[in-house]
Amino acid sequence: MRGPHRRGRFGEFGGRFVPEALVPACEELEAAFAVAWADPTFRARLDDLLEHYGGRPTPVTECGRLGERLGIRLLLKREDLAHTGSHKLNNVIGQALLAERMGKRRLIAETGAGQHGVAAATAAALLGLECLVYMGAVDVERQGLNVFRMELLGAQVRAVDSGSRTLKDAINEALRDWVATVETTHYCIGSVMGPHPYPYMVREFQRVIGDEARAQCYEMLGFDPDVVVACVGGGSNAAGTFAGFVDTHARLVGVEAAGGAAMSNGVAGVVHGMRSRFLQDEAGQILEAQSISAGLDYPGIGPEHAHLGTVGRAEYPSAGDSEVLAAFRLLAETEGIIPALEPAHGLAWIIREAGKSIPEGSAVLLTLSGRGDKDVALVRKLMQ
Ligand SMILES: *Cc1c(COP(=O)(O)O)cnc(C)c1O
Repeated sequence: MRGPHRRGRFGEFGGRFVPEALVPACEELEAAFAVAWADPTFRARLDDLLEHYGGRPTPVTECGRLGERLGIRLLLKREDLAHTGSHKLNNVIGQALLAERMGKRRLIAETGAGQHGVAAATAAALLGLECLVYMGAVDVERQGLNVFRMELLGAQVRAVDSGSRTLKDAINEALRDWVATVETTHYCIGSVMGPHPYPYMVREFQRVIGDEARAQCYEMLGFDPDVVVACVGGGSNAAGTFAGFVDTHARLVGVEAAGGAAMSNGVAGVVHGMRSRFLQDEAGQILEAQSISAGLDYPGIGPEHAHLGTVGRAEYPSAGDSEVLAAFRLLAETEGIIPALEPAHGLAWIIREAGKSIPEGSAVLLTLSGRGDKDVALVRKLMQ
């Protein structure tokens, strides 16, 4: 997967649609990232933290029992085993190091379910940076435990009372903060979204997933997997995974939540600094995504995915809540792994398609983006 073209375009998507006051900040970030990413000292520091603090490389494990039941070889890239229990750490450590390098000692972040907020607070604590997390007031109510986690990690959480008081409003508020504080502040965006260079930069920070998995699969199988699957909220774990396989013959599949399917049901538009696909009503207002998994609640999709879907290099089907719950339970029962509900969407699609569009005997890689501890209380409630 190459970089975006001029001004951060992936085909007709991407770009940099920001208030004039933010153009220099985006340009500064773009330049700083380009220099850092080419600097062996920066890369060595990042790799060292990912290894000794984050627990990388995460393993790839083969699911013998579940694979046999489905008639395929099923491999999992185990991001659930990384520190903080998901892939999000890869991105926030990268951005926090970059902020430090730019001399910006204050991080701001947006969060919906709270997972990116917790990750950002973790990286800020590690590097001794100040951290303020914007979170919709509704989400603050719903995700009390994650609010407390962020506070434990030394971050401040600011409830956003505008609009629908959820993720999209938190992003707007964070952008407003950034306009006023660019000199001292880095805005740490949590997925492959926002104005250029974020979709490209976050993908590069997450490509460690795909690069590791490519080598690990090859070692285990002797060939590349036939199908590579990841769940898609904004699309960062999928973008990082796909980056390792885009130049193979693997079928690339990003699975969205049925209630947040920006690819199937979205409309092209410009929101949050980028042109991409979004769930919108007839007046162009952004709709709220609905899903049992709070991490897939972004009502849009990253611009590179919008492009890969448009040109046909990747597919973006969706999975519904009940099949996701069934997949969650099946992985726990057959493999002793309780997944986060987000990657259970990817597994639900694999279960649905095994023996159909996934031929028997295929080798299928799923990025298990996170562990399910955060979801067990909800699943228990839904099963009662
Ligand atoms: C946040 C999250 C996601 C969704 O974010 P992407 O940017 O689409 O990767 C998926 N899985 C887990 C475990 C998450 O925490």
